[in-house]
Amino acid sequence: MSTLVMKFGGSSVGTTTALSQVLSIVLQEKENWSQLVLVASALEGVTDALIEAAHLAHLGNQRGYRRIVANLRTRHLALIEELPFGATERTALQADIDRLLFDMLDIYQSMSQSKAARAAVDASIGVGEKLSTRIIAALLRQNGLRSVAIDTTSLIVTDDVHGDATPNIPLTRAKIAQNLLPLLERGIIPVVTGFIGATAAGEPTTLGRGGSDYTASVLGVCVNATEIWMWTDVDGIMTADPRDVEGARVIADLSYDEVAELAYFGARVLHARMIGPLRQQQIPLRVKNVFKPQQIGTLIAEKETSRARTLKAVTSISGLGISAEQGLLRAPVNQLIGEALHAAGQMQADVMIASQSAAHSFTCLLIPTSAGPDAIHTTRQALEDHLVATPSNWRIQPITIITVISNQLQAWPQAAAQVLLMLGDIRVLALALGTSNCSLSLVIEMRDAEEGLARIHRHIISSG
Ligand code: ASP
Ligand code: MG
Repeated sequence: MSTLVMKFGGSSVGTTTALSQVLSIVLQEKENWSQLVLVASALEGVTDALIEAAHLAHLGNQRGYRRIVANLRTRHLALIEELPFGATERTALQADIDRLLFDMLDIYQSMSQSKAARAAVDASIGVGEKLSTRIIAALLRQNGLRSVAIDTTSLIVTDDVHGDATPNIPLTRAKIAQNLLPLLERGIIPVVTGFIGATAAGEPTTLGRGGSDYTASVLGVCVNATEIWMWTDVDGIMTADPRDVEGARVIADLSYDEVAELAYFGARVLHARMIGPLRQQQIPLRVKNVFKPQQIGTLIAEKETSRARTLKAVTSISGLGISAEQGLLRAPVNQLIGEALHAAGQMQADVMIASQSAAHSFTCLLIPTSAGPDAIHTTRQALEDHLVATPSNWRIQPITIITVISNQLQAWPQAAAQVLLMLGDIRVLALALGTSNCSLSLVIEMRDAEEGLARIHRHIISSG
């Protein structure tokens, strides 16, 4: 028996054109696999709007969040108007959408009255996925397939780190055996909400920005999927983000480690924590373009050891560099940074590189993409507020971490030498070889990021 889990990202469900692609892909793959599970993101931009609405609700700005909800309603209703639904299905869908949005207004109302609980925020920002999955499931039914929309609050059990929760695999597996496998056995195609989960006590959570990828991975592991396919609007994983550099190319295959490093160090294609569970169970993952399904895209699977050494990709991520005039002992520096972040509840930043000399210490924090676009600003603020009161001379500066991905880097020092050579006159503040043996990270000043990326990418393309 073969099971395929397919995840459709925001850009592959946002328009009628994209949705008709989804439909034809499902009709085709249904013939090739015994069981299909679909995972969907919210329509493109919807989660951003929901986060904004939750923020306005915090501030008690009723007009503001009502306007956003009204826009979301218009957008979803317009989409189903354009899709070829029968009258009954359309009316039922409209009622469903209205009910979900109505419930949200209640949540917002309660947020403005009391200091919002993180669970209420998660409940509200996860609505985008509930809306999109209902539309997709209805579209499949309209075309003769047996399909239902399922909210992962009843499937994915997570810890209570609201906004960036981690699923508990054994508990999730048990829920899936109870609530999902029986549907698959009956030949039903579930369309499951990405991004959201709930604690064991039933409080809503979300898995961090881009979390639908993680949902697909966890579901894949729990249903023992044969493969997982991620559908997006680019041709696969690229040698660099095409929005940042010219001439980026699709990479045909990557190992789990390589892709995990790529995602961790900022490539916006996949959620960084989704790879761990797949690696453990050796489930192959494909990234494909929903608008060009015939192309093979990128395959992620265990690496072959014999593969030729090549530089495969480069990525970048923002962070903060913290320098202090502080001799020899790192412990007080670490402690102060830890305290500052803890005090502000901003523990999402990761220490990436720390270096120490006789009179100076440098700590580089990486801000994961899943922490959202504001995280760098709030982390910086938290550090500044806290560190200003300490005697040492601290300097906090925005930095960029550029990471080159390649296999067997530790046995291939020439690769690091080439990369440094390519950077030429760009100042390198710190440098680290990843313990996974496939990443080399360089910390540079933010203003050099664009040029640094371009130089290294040109080298990757010319040597590949
Ligand atoms: N809709 C969520 C987000 O925008 C999750 C996802 O798309 O993967 O972050
Ligand atoms: Mg994504």
